[in-house]
Order: sequence, then C-alpha cells, then structure tokens
Amino acid sequence: MTRIASHRGGTLEFGDSTPAGFAATATMALEEVEFDVHPTSDGAIVVHHDATLDRTTDRTGAIADLTLAEVQAARINYGAGASPLTLEQLCAIYATSSVSFRCEIKPGADGRPYADFVPRVVETLGQGGMLARTGFSSFLIATLDDLRAASDRPMLWLVSPPVLHQLGAAAMIELARAHAIPEIGVNIDTASHDLQAGVTDAGLDFGCWAAHTTPQIDKALALGVKVFTTDRPSLAIARRTAHLEAGK
Ligand code: FE
Repeated sequence: MTRIASHRGGTLEFGDSTPAGFAATATMALEEVEFDVHPTSDGAIVVHHDATLDRTTDRTGAIADLTLAEVQAARINYGAGASPLTLEQLCAIYATSSVSFRCEIKPGADGRPYADFVPRVVETLGQGGMLARTGFSSFLIATLDDLRAASDRPMLWLVSPPVLHQLGAAAMIELARAHAIPEIGVNIDTASHDLQAGVTDAGLDFGCWAAHTTPQIDKALALGVKVFTTDRPSLAIARRTAHLEAGK
C-alpha cells in the first residue's frame, strides 16, 4: 500500500508547520508526518519549513541567527496563535502516535548545510524516543552523506524538477548509488511510469512529493509509489480509501 506523508503537518488543512497540524496528523490514518528542522543560535532545533521566519510568521529573521525564545515569540500565520515547535516538543506529540517521522534536514538561508547539524538532530530524535521511527530526507547530497555517517536510519534524496532535468534519470540513479542512497523522491508532476521503473529496476525505492490536488494524489496512487507527501492529508486518506475499494 502506498504510504501517505502529511507534509509539514498538512499545510493546506492546518497552516504551514503548525502545532495544530502536527497534533491532528498524529491521530490520522496515515503512515508519516513530514517536517523540516533548523538550528537556533542558542543550540535548539526548531521545526519550521523556511530558514527564516519572514514568509510564514509575524516576525522576521533567519532562525539560525535567533535564540529559541526569539523564534518562539513568533506566531505562525494561520496557526491559531501558535509558535514554531522544537524538535523535542514534536517528539512528545508523537510519543503515543503510530505515525512515523519523515524528517527533512534543511540548508540555511544561504542554501548551504548548517555546520555540525545532522548529528545533533539524530541525537535529539534518539533522546525523544523517535529515532527508531524516523526516516530522513534532504535535497542535499552532502547532508545525506552526513546522515549516513550519523545514523543507520532510512533516508531518501529529494530530487527537484530542475535537478532531474539537468541530470537525467540515468545520472540521477548513478549518483544515488554512488552515495548509497536507497530511495529517490521526485515532484509528483515529474513522476512517470518509466521513471519509476528505471529507479526500481536499479534496486532503489521510488516516491513522490507535493501531491496536493486530487489528480496529483490519484496519480501517485495509480503509479503505486512507495510514499508521497501531501499538504492535504485528509483528502489523501479519502482518495486512498477509494482507490483501495476500487481495486477490490
Ligand atoms: Fe520538507
């Protein structure tokens, strides 16, 4: 069965990376919650998509330049007055949930990996009791290299449309194998049966991200990809139920 990952806690249903969205996702009939992490200036790890607060909150600034107190003074837009969570707080929300973590390691606002960040994320997930239920993702090969050095947990490479077009499928697969990356995730709009077959024939797992509309979700289900991320987890669950019923 194709796995569903609630993207940033279901952005189009609950706001972008909001506590309400993460709490709701923890009770849903799906397999994964996707989220992104950034370091603060004083050593905390914050769950937020962007590297800055500018687009999604009432404050501004790069998270890495702010203290945790400064970040948690921000109110998330459409977030019911709530502030960004720490990774510890997210672990606590999922302690009794059957939903697993899909943790994306983001670069900083300059697009470069944060220094010495990956081992701290792995350690914090371990302390929070969630590491054994975590898979990792990143767009950055260097970050996936860091992950492989820090953890034996599953990981996948997020391949953007421009990178896919620039590399081509064969070079993408070659690069994944060279870096011992076991799974590739592409934007749903660049997914195809041929691309999926090429990846799985090479012994790699294949998934998709950004399946937010009914046609995009149905495409992921029809392909039978391993997993897809969606901003609309409730819609995805309903579509998957219909897909499974139709296949009976
Ligand atoms: Fe993400």
